[in-house]
Amino acid sequence: MVYHAGRHFLQIPGPTNVPDRVLRAIDFPTMDHRGPEFADLGKACLAGMKKVFQTKAHVVIYPASGTGAWEAALVNTLSPGDAVLMYETGQFATLWHKLARRLGLAPEFIAGDWRTGPDPAKIEARLRADTSHTIKAVCVVHNETSTGVTARIADIRQAIDAAKHPALLMVDTISSLASIDYRHDAWGVDVTVAGSQKGLMLPPGLSFNAISDKALAASKTAQLPRSYWAWDEMLASGERGYFPYTPATNLLYGLREALAMLFEEGLTQVFARHDRHAEATRRAVRAWGLEVLATNPQEFSSALTAVVVPEGVNADRVREVILQHFNMSLGTGLGQLAGKVFRIGHLGDFNDLTLIGTLAGVEMGLRLAGVNIKPTGVQAAMDYLTKAHQEKQT
Ligand SMILES: *Cc1c(COP(=O)(O)O)cnc(C)c1O
Repeated sequence: MVYHAGRHFLQIPGPTNVPDRVLRAIDFPTMDHRGPEFADLGKACLAGMKKVFQTKAHVVIYPASGTGAWEAALVNTLSPGDAVLMYETGQFATLWHKLARRLGLAPEFIAGDWRTGPDPAKIEARLRADTSHTIKAVCVVHNETSTGVTARIADIRQAIDAAKHPALLMVDTISSLASIDYRHDAWGVDVTVAGSQKGLMLPPGLSFNAISDKALAASKTAQLPRSYWAWDEMLASGERGYFPYTPATNLLYGLREALAMLFEEGLTQVFARHDRHAEATRRAVRAWGLEVLATNPQEFSSALTAVVVPEGVNADRVREVILQHFNMSLGTGLGQLAGKVFRIGHLGDFNDLTLIGTLAGVEMGLRLAGVNIKPTGVQAAMDYLTKAHQEKQT
């Protein structure tokens, strides 16, 4: 490998850039996970994650990628053949749906257009029609990472309540937690699924379930086979700050540090920072004369922006040019969006100047790739950020 001077810009929407403080925290001798010192670490991680989920309920941490926590949410609460209502918002919703099918569930998929979030009215109508309550869970992706669309979870909760339906609500927050405001308790979510490598600023390898009392009660009678993912032993050990099997000790050192950083900045400020960078990015995209994939302003993602390239342009070619010339990685178009969009990740350990550097790389790369754009996107983003800082001054 040839040395590339300066930092690589890892602007995919996860894994995200890991800050030095977290890297240094991970670089520490692995300790005995059954020893007396471990409990402090375990308890700090679990308590911190409850704050991030905005919950007083239960949290478990798995040494697994986000996909593991997806599986855990389903196998702990459901039985073979159970009907599950899912919503086709994009590639990640499609993968969770596939996982449900492979587990022997009967997932129903409300069709979507890969540009908008789940429509609460459609969910309500489907649940009202289910008078015998055969649907056991509603599963939605909070931030659809393939499209840059954020679901209105509070409205979906209201839709379930309006239909007076007892289904569990399960939400994938793998690319939104600690970047976009999310409230497990206030929004009445039963299982929240999360991962380490996006908003939490950690390397891949940890994932999480936040669990309501209702979901815990469902787990007592759920019949899907489970062992590694079983909540009961995880929760029993977690009470004392331990795990039933070997946890990812060094990643937990990193998690403790990442949580400290999030609380030092303050979650409200963290969310506002992500909102600001997302708005600046959308202004850049429009100034270039390009289109943001998300169509509903109420659902614009603050974690990433998917940019539609003009007809006849291959988005992956643009990404290649940008990587080659500027040592920056952008997200590829997934599934049916392959070649049609590239995705700019603006989440995690990220500030105004990292954003401007990122957008400058995109603007130069688009021009180098011969895409017909107006070279005014970076300026539009700078104008917006300057104004935001002027407002803070006064
Ligand atoms: C990244 C992601 C996943 C998959 O997580 P892995 O850690 O790759 O298993 C699932 N859902 C969403 C919304 C994601 O962004």
